[in-house]
Amino acid sequence: MEIDITLFIMKNSQHNHLFKDLGSVDRRSFLATIPLALMSARNFIFNFPSLTAAITKNNAHEWDYENREWGDISQEYQVCKMGKQQSPIDLNSTIKSELKPVEIHYQDIQLSVINNSHTIQVNNQLENFIILDDHKFDLLQFHFHHPSEHSVSGKNYPMEIHFVHKNEDGNLAVLAVFLQEGRENKTLQQIWDVMPSQKSLEKYFFDISISPFQLLPKESEIYRYFGSLTTPPCSEIVNWIVFKEPLEISSAQFQQFQNIFPNNARQTQPINRRSILTSI
Ligand SMILES: [Zn+2]
Repeated sequence: MEIDITLFIMKNSQHNHLFKDLGSVDRRSFLATIPLALMSARNFIFNFPSLTAAITKNNAHEWDYENREWGDISQEYQVCKMGKQQSPIDLNSTIKSELKPVEIHYQDIQLSVINNSHTIQVNNQLENFIILDDHKFDLLQFHFHHPSEHSVSGKNYPMEIHFVHKNEDGNLAVLAVFLQEGRENKTLQQIWDVMPSQKSLEKYFFDISISPFQLLPKESEIYRYFGSLTTPPCSEIVNWIVFKEPLEISSAQFQQFQNIFPNNARQTQPINRRSILTSI
């Protein structure tokens, strides 16, 4: 998944120490501080994209998928190397459990899309949310990876979508959907028709209404586990919900994304002492 926290780091420099040694930092204080900053950073980006671009250039620790030793780029990214709850993972050895169904409340949104050089991202502006274990998580954005970041018993899918949500306590929940080759997906095509092929500012298409719901599979069977952002700073703050059923897209749609991003997926990480739960 992809979260831009550049401005969080810049605007909240008093919290920079939190990133320097996540191994010893009090986890609760970390969780309490980062989400507000994520929210303000996103709003800021939303309103002042050109200023954001200028600031990002001067302050962000640049990372990419060529050099994947992200933990060596910056102290702020150390958890990418040192963390024990990193994502993505290979989904195997699951434990069957009575998981409460995830309630999904999505309405159509006006299309707002950005190529941030790491992925194509669609930002949400409306009251779209999920209910996970009685907690409300608001949709921030969704974006795409090729190939899939998670794998199932060692097998990758051509692509994966991440719907990124945040609750009022600052925890994140990401719905992940595998994409496989099959029939064209019309909702995806609406995005593909206008997605920037180069790094861009956020682009608004007020005349294009898209239904995020159409990018979810019909079956509700899921995997659940606790993990991290899959991009720097790799913060371990994410409730992962991965749908078992893949969604179909056409090979032409797959090729179109691959032409822009030949590989924007992190490799799978050790599961360590975590459990993967599946619905019964
Ligand atoms: Zn992602």
